[in-house]
Amino acid sequence: MSELGVKDWVKQLVKQDEIDKYLVNGKDFIDEQHIYDTLTNNRKPEKQQVRDIIQKSLRIERLEPEETAALLHVEDPELWEEMVAAGLEVKRKVYDNRIVFFAPLYCSNLCVNNCAYCGFRNENKDEERRILTMDEVRQETEAVISEGHKRMIVVYGEHPRSDADYIAKTIETVYGVKKPARHGMGEIRRVNINAAPMSIADLKKLWNVGIGTYQVFQETYHKATYATVHPTNTLKGNYRWRLYALHRAMEAGIDDVATGALFGLYNWRFEVMGLLQHAIDLERQFGIGPHTISFPRMTPASGSALSIGSNYLVSDADFKKLVTVLRLSVPYTGLIITARENAQLKKELIQVGCTQTDASTRIGIGGYTEAMKELSNLECQNQEIDKQQFILGDTRRLDDVVRELAEMGMITSFCTAGYRCGRTGDKIMGLLKSCTEGKFCKLNAVLTFREYLDDYAFPETKAIGEKLIEQELSQIREAPFFNKGSLLETFEKMYQDIIKGKRDVYI
Ligand code: SF4
Repeated sequence: MSELGVKDWVKQLVKQDEIDKYLVNGKDFIDEQHIYDTLTNNRKPEKQQVRDIIQKSLRIERLEPEETAALLHVEDPELWEEMVAAGLEVKRKVYDNRIVFFAPLYCSNLCVNNCAYCGFRNENKDEERRILTMDEVRQETEAVISEGHKRMIVVYGEHPRSDADYIAKTIETVYGVKKPARHGMGEIRRVNINAAPMSIADLKKLWNVGIGTYQVFQETYHKATYATVHPTNTLKGNYRWRLYALHRAMEAGIDDVATGALFGLYNWRFEVMGLLQHAIDLERQFGIGPHTISFPRMTPASGSALSIGSNYLVSDADFKKLVTVLRLSVPYTGLIITARENAQLKKELIQVGCTQTDASTRIGIGGYTEAMKELSNLECQNQEIDKQQFILGDTRRLDDVVRELAEMGMITSFCTAGYRCGRTGDKIMGLLKSCTEGKFCKLNAVLTFREYLDDYAFPETKAIGEKLIEQELSQIREAPFFNKGSLLETFEKMYQDIIKGKRDVYI
């Protein structure tokens, strides 16, 4: 596409009326002065006040900004320990002991924007540009399926060549791929996307081809910082077009949305407050908040001085605190910790209450196919920074992470049933708030873990996994909830069906 063509495409993309309709008295929901005042007024919370707030989280109620601000300022190590323990308890109540896995698939690094922290930015001439053809999408998907994944998040730069039509085609392509496993065929059952903000009409195109979760990170909620790192003459420079991306998605029928902030651009306490305000505004306007929140930390990116020199880089200790506070503030929202972080920290954060993670991740365009070609390459030692958006902290195979979690007593879930049974949007939020969804998820986690152990697990993982699945089965058989009606009987039959080779059965 010619330079003029790109400019025309950019010009017609933003629909001002699809921003203005969500404003209140011409203002957006990020009131910076209010955030600063709330943080200042709650700088020295009393012990009892913090304990009362913890109790509210344990009742699975979303916290108010004042309560979140108080937690963000706790200094007493004993109280932090109580908060971490409560976070894990909240996670157990809502999500049980399961961790949901996904694999990211980077489809294109063509981008019209110039975000200061990103290797894909338009002005970075070191980056080798590439967009996957549908054949390449198929090959990448086959490689991901071979690891045992069932859920994918497809990632795109913002460019006319990766517009809504291209995205729709890639979603359909991924759903269409089948790859033989030890028993039957492996497949991706849930395609989520991480893409630029779109108009309602474009979002409807994605809804029509079965998009899973639509994920857009605001990066930073602080307007001056946003303007500094996203030049105003670029598409992404429009703060409000991005701020209301998920509102438009809801209106287009995509009731499963996900937000996040890139920690390291501005003060981490401010960003947590911004994420909370985002969740509150979605709840206010549509009755449901985001399904998940992500909190990537800035890591070194090709040609980006900011990515290593920002004044706001977040230490490991503060990172654990912010994840703990998020766990308590939005108890029924999934929290995603990605392979940006190293294996040890990921393990710790899963124990703080994260619910989803990725593994065997490759973020170079065409990275899975290349890794498959180097079969001896169990760990991608040499990440080619000029072909990827940032540096990964954890490049272990899916099987290694599944085994580690099983050793910790956590079950890997490949379940995608909720979405396909219509448990999305306000329905899933209601089930999560009442701690009912976690119970169905436990059953489906066991069913999909059984599939994984039989179809993909390495011997050591299978041995550890068998012990874990036995423990899960005894808990299920003894729990009164599962003994009501015919639920247990249905589950037992499905479990036996899977052992006999049947696939993709769920409750
Ligand atoms: S962060 Fe996204 S929008 Fe910004 S340059 Fe990178 S790929 Fe493009």
